[in-house]
Amino acid sequence: MESIILKRQELDEPFYVLDLGVVISLYHQLISNLPMVHPYYAVKCNPEPAILETLAALGSNFDCASPSEIQAVLALSVSPDRIIYANACKPVSHIKYAASVGVNLTTFDSIQELDKIRKWHPKCELLIRIKSPVDGGARYPLDSKFGANPEEVAHLLGAAQASGLAVIGVAFHIGSEATNLDAFHAAIAEAKTVFETAARLGMTKMRVLDIGGGFACNPGFHEAASIIKDAIQTYFPNETAAGHLSVISEPGRFLADTAFTLATKVIGKRVRDELREYWINDGKYGSFGWLSSEEVIAKCGAHILASASHSNNRTYRSTVFGPTCAAVDKVFTGHQLPELEVNDWLVFSDMGAYTTACGTNFNGFNTAAIPTYVVRSDPTS
Ligand SMILES: *Cc1c(COP(=O)(O)O)cnc(C)c1O
Repeated sequence: MESIILKRQELDEPFYVLDLGVVISLYHQLISNLPMVHPYYAVKCNPEPAILETLAALGSNFDCASPSEIQAVLALSVSPDRIIYANACKPVSHIKYAASVGVNLTTFDSIQELDKIRKWHPKCELLIRIKSPVDGGARYPLDSKFGANPEEVAHLLGAAQASGLAVIGVAFHIGSEATNLDAFHAAIAEAKTVFETAARLGMTKMRVLDIGGGFACNPGFHEAASIIKDAIQTYFPNETAAGHLSVISEPGRFLADTAFTLATKVIGKRVRDELREYWINDGKYGSFGWLSSEEVIAKCGAHILASASHSNNRTYRSTVFGPTCAAVDKVFTGHQLPELEVNDWLVFSDMGAYTTACGTNFNGFNTAAIPTYVVRSDPTS
């Protein structure tokens, strides 16, 4: 990153820096800590072409949820059998698209979804998405929307069987940025009971366990990896020994978050007594929509490229607004910052997960147009 020379005063738009060295290190960390688990990168987390391309070259598979995500991955010459269409509820036209391009693995958690798949993509192999039985304490829980309840499983499996559809395994997601990592253990145990239910119904032996995403790039990752390994060993010892179980994961946040840094420019300022109010050129309708004020403050850290004239140590209670005309477009409030001036830069680290991907074009501030500059640090450093 040292090699980037910023002509600070000339640039007037926010921009990202993506460090592919970080992506490469994280991918290696993932497969060395969970060697029996095949990663499927969750494209929705950050669909930046350079991260998709790098992961494709590393041998990663992909979790897509829509035709345009599938298209983006196929455009990299990734074979369709490296894609899971991990959206449990799909429009008919999207199911037809998946069939037409040979994406033959998807998830479901309802009878209605089985009906659509039977009509439009009967060759598609299925994973039954179940709710995780223990709350993952996630920042972004998913189970209120997705996943069959335990008492629904036998009925769903029976319906699939009666329709001639092949349910080859079980999927779950304990929630994004989970804090209770024991939820992995409980969900893998629950998956085992679904495998047993399928066997009891006389179905072909299940062979795929999809543990979803949910882990972040923090010390909790090692804890998650050891809980996952332990649970697979506990609940699937024979299948693992016989090589009859394929375990897949769908990491999004883990691979994307720390690889992206966002630079924003101070475009406005107001002084009210001791309070400092600043406007920057990205905001709640852009990269910061899913982040709380506290999270943004943690990402802002010490990365302030302020004018040299403000090098004294004095700080002020500061509010930072985004660029749109919405009053709720506040990036953070009540944080102590050194005095900034218009044309200074505020830089945010770990901005790769659910940032640009969730931004809008509100007020004509087009998140999708924020450029990303790609660098590659030495992955081993
Ligand atoms: C969002 C999502 C993921 C990625 O989750 P992370 O917490 O970002 O790792 C994986 N699988 C499914 C089905 C998802 O919806």
